[in-house]
Amino acid sequence: MGLMTGKRGIIFGVANDKSIAWGVAQQLHAAGAELAFTYLNEALEKRVRPLAESLDAKIILPCDVQNEEEMVAVFAELEKQWGKIDFVVHAIAFANREDLKNPFSQTSREGFRLALDVSAYSLVSMTRCALPVMKQGGSIVTMTYLGAVRSVPAYNVMGVAKAALESSVRYLAAELGEKGIRVNAVSAGPIKTLAASGVANFKEKMRIMEERAPLKRLVDQEEVGKSTLYLLSDLASGVTGEIHYVDGGFSTAAG
Ligand code: NAD
Repeated sequence: MGLMTGKRGIIFGVANDKSIAWGVAQQLHAAGAELAFTYLNEALEKRVRPLAESLDAKIILPCDVQNEEEMVAVFAELEKQWGKIDFVVHAIAFANREDLKNPFSQTSREGFRLALDVSAYSLVSMTRCALPVMKQGGSIVTMTYLGAVRSVPAYNVMGVAKAALESSVRYLAAELGEKGIRVNAVSAGPIKTLAASGVANFKEKMRIMEERAPLKRLVDQEEVGKSTLYLLSDLASGVTGEIHYVDGGFSTAAG
């Protein structure tokens, strides 16, 4: 019996085998969970489908989180095929590349709206769609970054979006606790992924983490996956509204 045997859930945010969501998926599968996946568009479907199938996934659906109809359709399909779900993984973020390069004060209204919509509001709309299918409680985990609570060079509008995301975690947790639904975030240290390639000076962020984090090294997708597994499992039955750092202790160390 695995930690997640008998549990079913969906993972949003696999783009390729470097994605944090893929590290999470592998841990959940190894622990016995049954998984469904979404992909952003047809180009990514080619990468995501074989990965999902390698973990025995049968439900693999398109979902652009800016498209409410697609999101509704995803959860309707889960209800049709499974009746209920136990967990949701939200590992999605987007900002225009120029907004991660230009000075923060130059962020356009549209760039601000886009980053907040895709990276923060999507957790709210996803949770709303998941609620009717989480019939016996459940656990929702999203991915955040230190730039939510500190000004990290060049993280810019994505930091503001992560601040909104972390606050949304607390409000959703407060609202849904009485339904037995827990909502938490994992705050990961810098990891080389597709999304990370859009952040200027990313190599420098990795170097600083290796130098200053108490563990004196980077963390990887597997470690984020293991903490996410914990938060999704009954081991974390008393944990909600938390921002759980997986960054080698970096956020706790001075200088
Ligand atoms: P990634 O590029 O592998 O994943 C980002 C995902 O977001 C992709 O699957 C992409 O398809 C999806 N996405 C973007 N716009 C979307 C939309 N409109 N609708 C649906 N999906 C959309 O990169 P990642 O680093 O694995 O990112 C996953 C999460 O982890 C993000 O929230 C990111 O901010 C967070 N995070 C990453 C790091 C890091 O250093 N890589 C650190 C902390 C937190």
